[in-house]
Amino acid sequence: MSQYKMWIGGNWVDAESGKTYPVFNPATEAEIAQVPLGGLAEVDKAVAAARKAYPVWSKKSQVERSQIVLKLAALMRADAKEVGRIDTLEHGTPAGLAGMIAGDLPEWLEWNAYNARALMGNTIPQCPNELIYLQREPVGVVALITPWNLPLLMIVEKLAPALSVGNTIIIKPASINSLTALKLAELADKAGFPSGTVNVITGPGGIIGEALATHPGVDMVAFTGSSETGKRIMALASQTVKRLQLELGGKNPVIVLGDADIDAAVGAMLGKQMFNCGQICAAPGRFYIHEKVYDEFLQKFTAGMKKVVVGDPNDTKTQMGPLVSADHRNRVEGYIKSAIDDGAKVILGGKRPTAPPLDKGYYFMPAIITGVTQKMKVAREEIFGPVAVFMEPFNSDDKVIELANDNIYGLAAYVWTQDKARGMRFANEIQAGTVQIGSTPARDQDVPWGGYKQSGIGKEHSMYGLYEYTNLKRIQVDLTANR
Ligand code: NAD
Repeated sequence: MSQYKMWIGGNWVDAESGKTYPVFNPATEAEIAQVPLGGLAEVDKAVAAARKAYPVWSKKSQVERSQIVLKLAALMRADAKEVGRIDTLEHGTPAGLAGMIAGDLPEWLEWNAYNARALMGNTIPQCPNELIYLQREPVGVVALITPWNLPLLMIVEKLAPALSVGNTIIIKPASINSLTALKLAELADKAGFPSGTVNVITGPGGIIGEALATHPGVDMVAFTGSSETGKRIMALASQTVKRLQLELGGKNPVIVLGDADIDAAVGAMLGKQMFNCGQICAAPGRFYIHEKVYDEFLQKFTAGMKKVVVGDPNDTKTQMGPLVSADHRNRVEGYIKSAIDDGAKVILGGKRPTAPPLDKGYYFMPAIITGVTQKMKVAREEIFGPVAVFMEPFNSDDKVIELANDNIYGLAAYVWTQDKARGMRFANEIQAGTVQIGSTPARDQDVPWGGYKQSGIGKEHSMYGLYEYTNLKRIQVDLTANR
């Protein structure tokens, strides 16, 4: 079992309290590491280090800064196998998928490093003898508070733009799986960032996250996690009016119209539901299927789900590993129980496997719930697990748009129809940051991602994502002599 340290101000350190806490392998329930239990003393040290590093890092030329970010990308690429191995170990990500994620992330760093170099100012023609121009500047010290569901990816998508444009950062990874964040700190050290530019504090969100959101030395909080925590951070950050970028929960409607290509819709939506055990914000949250194709869709979806291979994440045949923790499995099981209590039907799965070797580890058989109505808890709240929620069949476009919008979240929506004009009406009327008509996989860094309503504030990826980490300054110069 390994003993880890935190990365603060260019040094590997223990918690001042000397305390540590365990990290478990979700596939075996075995303790795999001890990490420092950071607290308020570490927040103060990390903020001081990041503030000290800020003038050094932000005043480097953009070329030099981008080159260091590119070096980090190269180091991550060279170490992708090890990064993927840690992801499988601490999160239960199937090895193939973990390797793919670790292999993709360097490109995210590269995208931001190159595009930061193209982050232009503007000059604005106005009065004669007056010069007005706009300049982009880094925000300052940014706290990155991230969730457990894709532990490294969630950090890199914030770190890449934040560092590329000149901010210094303090990463507060999810407490239950912070080992990939510590691996990233090791690579950042080798890449040559000035001491204090990148800091990692491990420990509980309720203490470290809250202290970062409150600290007067932190200029911005970039947060991904639940809407509840996002609201708490927003309240705390309001005391010092910090910049916020919030990526929160989702309860994403899937709408399958009567003219849809059912096989294509089933294949794509099944993949999205099962990806990372359903532990993603973009997972389908509610299936609204037109009555004409309801039986066919449900029968094909059920047949597909039965074939999903649940097992050891190190086995190459595995498509779905364990859920992340005992607590999270209990939470998902709570939703299954609430659906039954509310009168819905669990027609597949929804239980722990009992036969060895899957009786050990936080495994859970993917589930389908039918007969769900709009007011039930499973129709309103994010389950964050491999549970497909089938609403009662619909027969009117107007009505299904109303039902899809009847939720506090507005992250993504998936619409299936072969009539693109009909699909465009859904694209325009659904309140969500992303509406996907049919299956169009997008190049992640090129297009923005972010929620409407209680799914968040601001965007990640693309130039819009880069802008989040900058302040826009207007500089106005009177060119008239002697005034
Ligand atoms: P969470 O809100 O419980 O925790 C997220 C992070 O916040 C962790 O690092 C945690 O330690 C910290 N935290 C906890 N309490 C805090 C507090 N009071 N103050 C400050 N920080 C605190 O979320 P989670 O369970 O780790 O992640 C799952 C959630 O993340 C889901 O709701 C999911 O939809 C959301 N998510 C959203 C996106 C998106 O792009 N919109 C992407 C991934 C995950």
